[in-house]
Amino acid sequence: MFQRLILLCLLLCAPWAAAQRLPELGDTSAAAISPGDERRLGENIMREIRRDPAYLDDPEVADYVDKLGNRLVAHSDSARQKFEFFAVRDPQINAFALPGGFIGVHTGLILAAQSESEIAGVLAHEVAHVTQRHIARMLDQQSQSQVLSIAALALAILAARSDSQVGEAAMAFGQASVIQSQLNFTRENEREADRVGLQMLDGAGFDPRGMAGFFERLQRATRLYEGGAPSYLRTHPLTFERIGDIQNRIEQKPYRQVADSLDFHLIRAKLRAESGTASDAVAFFENSLQERKFLSEAASRYGLVASLIRARDFGRARREIPALVKTESPIIATLECRLADAAGETDRALDCYQRARRVHPGYRALFDGHFAQLVQSRRATEALQLIDTRLRSEPNDPRLYRQQAKAHAALGNRLQQHRAQGEAYVRTGELGAAMEQMQFALKTGEGDFYQLSAIEARLRELRRLQAEQNRKR
Ligand SMILES: [Zn+2]
Repeated sequence: MFQRLILLCLLLCAPWAAAQRLPELGDTSAAAISPGDERRLGENIMREIRRDPAYLDDPEVADYVDKLGNRLVAHSDSARQKFEFFAVRDPQINAFALPGGFIGVHTGLILAAQSESEIAGVLAHEVAHVTQRHIARMLDQQSQSQVLSIAALALAILAARSDSQVGEAAMAFGQASVIQSQLNFTRENEREADRVGLQMLDGAGFDPRGMAGFFERLQRATRLYEGGAPSYLRTHPLTFERIGDIQNRIEQKPYRQVADSLDFHLIRAKLRAESGTASDAVAFFENSLQERKFLSEAASRYGLVASLIRARDFGRARREIPALVKTESPIIATLECRLADAAGETDRALDCYQRARRVHPGYRALFDGHFAQLVQSRRATEALQLIDTRLRSEPNDPRLYRQQAKAHAALGNRLQQHRAQGEAYVRTGELGAAMEQMQFALKTGEGDFYQLSAIEARLRELRRLQAEQNRKR
């Protein structure tokens, strides 16, 4: 990913940077890069990240992280933009903010946290880096030299995932030391992000001690790491002074016991069940249930069933279900359906998804499972009806159009398949690829006069849209 991302950045960011006519800043602290430009830059980077296999495209984990993050944003005084939180499958303890309000969190951090307030604390700190425009200022300082700005930006993203290759990539630019100095947030930035983040954490009803507790553990862990500090500490320098500052602020607040949500426990159990080997995961949850070493019994039971499904021990998984489904949660309902699905019990799975979706109508993981099961069991026409209903309330979800393309492919409708794929690209901002798909659709030799004219009209519209965007750049 590393080299590729730098390359991508050279392709995408260079024209972007060249088009910026940044005014002289003088001594003003205001950043010159506009929020709109920052967002566009972030979207370009996200487009590449979403293609990376490490990007966790799991609706349950994604929705959990996004909901948690946006609960914090709702309690920020200065958040004037949209935020999007996402998870990256990586055992390193890390979280990072990209330009434009995109905030990534590693699964390693979610698993290492001992409470929901700890994850929230780290996210709040990242949100604060965005709302206080630290990233915008970092970018802006580097606008003097385009190359440096590009490299530093790419590295700021890559620093998220510490690996020896980051060093190699930096050397490739021949400016490793200069870049390194640009990479870190300043101490003032860190202190401000802590202060603003704490307010958010407190306002959103989390335990403000979560932030200090987590940072402290990170610092202690640092001494145990042979290869240096966890990646998080490289981009967010942590000092005793900083931890002291946080603690002073917390001491002035009354003590507050905050219970972790069931979702927090279930999502962690899900990630744990997916890591390591399947038999290790089974053993881990068996042990935790036997010794009653758990924070949430329901989550441990969930983890055991998820691990048993992974180990393809469906009989045992089924015997564990009755104790599990006593706890009401869409995450648990989804697991029950997934079991039937994985065991190849089509009718039971379809019935399960249908029932569960009546109880949790908006839940994405249930929708996805139901859709996939219908396509798999040669009922793609029903799957398309499902998509149509959902598109009425979410007309801009690219996933729905990708699913629609899949269902059309299963039915052998190549014209509709390419059209739907094209619409998916429109919604991820890839107009070139969208137009290509529309042209493929026209060349399939399928469709009647009306369908073909509709696609031609859409193609003209997309060309106009692209011309408009090029003018803006
Ligand atoms: Zn920081």
